[in-house]
Amino acid sequence: MGAAGTVDEAKPQSYYDDIKQKFAEARDLRLRYRPEGTSQYTSELTGALARYAIDPYAADAPARDPIKDEVEVLFIGGGFSALLTAARLRERGVESIRIVERGGDVGGTWYWNRYPGAACDVPSYDYLPLLDEMGVFPPRLYAKGPEIFAHCQAIARRYSLYDLAVFHTTILETTWDKASKRWKIKTDRGDEMTAKFVICANGTLSKPKLSKIAGMETFQGHSFHTSRWDYDYTGEDLENLSDKVVGIIGTGASAVQAISRLGKAAKQLYVFQRTPSGIDIRGDRPTDPEWIERQPPGWQALRRERNLRGRAPNPEKQAEYAAVSREEKIRRQENDNIEHMMRIHRRIEEIVTDKATADALKPWYMFMCKRPCFDDDYLPTYNRPNVRLVDTKGKGITEIGPQGPVFEGETFPLDLLIYATGFEVQKTGIYNQIRGATGKEINETYADGMRTLFGIHTHGYPNLFVMGGYQASFQFNLTFMLQCQGDHIAECIKMTRDGGHEAVDVKPETEEWWVQEVIAHRGKTSRNADCTPGYYNFEGEFNRRQDGTYNGGFAQYYDHMQSIRGKLADHFLFE
Ligand code: NDP
Repeated sequence: MGAAGTVDEAKPQSYYDDIKQKFAEARDLRLRYRPEGTSQYTSELTGALARYAIDPYAADAPARDPIKDEVEVLFIGGGFSALLTAARLRERGVESIRIVERGGDVGGTWYWNRYPGAACDVPSYDYLPLLDEMGVFPPRLYAKGPEIFAHCQAIARRYSLYDLAVFHTTILETTWDKASKRWKIKTDRGDEMTAKFVICANGTLSKPKLSKIAGMETFQGHSFHTSRWDYDYTGEDLENLSDKVVGIIGTGASAVQAISRLGKAAKQLYVFQRTPSGIDIRGDRPTDPEWIERQPPGWQALRRERNLRGRAPNPEKQAEYAAVSREEKIRRQENDNIEHMMRIHRRIEEIVTDKATADALKPWYMFMCKRPCFDDDYLPTYNRPNVRLVDTKGKGITEIGPQGPVFEGETFPLDLLIYATGFEVQKTGIYNQIRGATGKEINETYADGMRTLFGIHTHGYPNLFVMGGYQASFQFNLTFMLQCQGDHIAECIKMTRDGGHEAVDVKPETEEWWVQEVIAHRGKTSRNADCTPGYYNFEGEFNRRQDGTYNGGFAQYYDHMQSIRGKLADHFLFE
């Protein structure tokens, strides 16, 4: 995804340099306010904070006896990672598949995130997986949360994934038993399950986190996190908020979608902003029936293939670009990026009538330093008389009293406080006490840096596959990446079964090759350090090169996977 700015050659370079300087100042200001980096947040939602983790969508979990049985494939988590991979396993004849899920249904992100306005920013034709297989054409360019959740449920039904699924259940321990070559799984429901293959499909942004704010537990109004929306309190259409004063902390992608709805519904809305999001045009539209008519069978797979390879390069332009120095390439990219961000600024000026509010809503950082947002209702919300932006100028809310948040000596008394403060990032596979062949917990194995092949396999953890973790490629369209991983995992399992093997483990030298690939492609630019803090750059913290995403490009990630799969015996140990 590139910036769509157009560099104006008539502008002197000093114009761009001055803006870059402002970007750096905005970043430095924020880093000074929160030197504690990622530890400014907590996802240990226990004690006084335990209520922020409670599932509001499930009545008390139904009682059931502990399960003590064996399945062939067990998924930790029931979101898209599990659904996509399970579909591929079914196609390969795997019958015994169990999803173990903390929530009350499949769907993952789309089970939890039911805040008003929840929708996906990636076109539905690309984001919704298995459209060819399901025979579905999404009705609009962008799919809304309930439609995506229903699609997840439809996949689970179509591939009979509800049969063995277990909900309201959290896995506590996953231990490899060398003698039986099976994984032993313990849960918070007293289960002792056995599985031949385990797939960690517990999501990239699945654990809600809260900003650690002094006095937050003293707040006497109602409060919840965006991913645990309390419709009993707000009403299904937010109708209960008409006499309520509401505050929301955070202005990331979740908040941006909820705020316009809250603005319409609440008596008064305060938005507590630390760093603005960049808001681009959404332009949602119904799917053109004639376009549907034109699509050949397998249209989504073809579309994904096109997206993977991009447009065929123009050889003349390629040669011209190759001759340009690295510095000049970076300069051009940055100028282009700045033009894009200035277009975002102009859009704010055109829509938001109060100048001070418009200025406060302007993001001062490069495109993609933070998750870009696409919304046509968010900015006009600030023209409403009942909506006030409380811009904390990079500092954030640092104090909450019994009545509400406090900023610069002003208390904002609230009936309802909503935390739109995001999620733990990519802790996939790391927080379920996974012990491999040597008895080592996987965090210990990663103590000196992550070690994987494709972010999926780690030597010493046979028959274990991790999805959506680090050392994998990053894709704005996450489901494409997950589908690519799911196809790979299903194929590895098939080859293990077809070969009559009990276990498959990546060879250490192949794992080492991939670790070096990840290292080689990270840290080539100073971009992470240049960006304003956020979860994309570990809140400005230093991190080892290998403890992040693979930056060699998605097509290359995909091709590497294909080529390793072609020679599985060279890269894996089978038992
Ligand atoms: P984010 O982590 O993106 O946002 C958290 C927000 O909380 C930031 O604005 C952050 O400010 C703010 N914040 C944290 N602490 C404080 C504080 N003390 N005072 C004031 N503000 C504070 O979480 P989201 O849930 O919004 O989004 C997470 C991700 O989920 C997205 O990036 C996206 O990948 C995905 N998503 C996708 C959607 C889509 O497709 N449309 C919709 C929703 C989510 P600061 O920026 O300064 O850190």
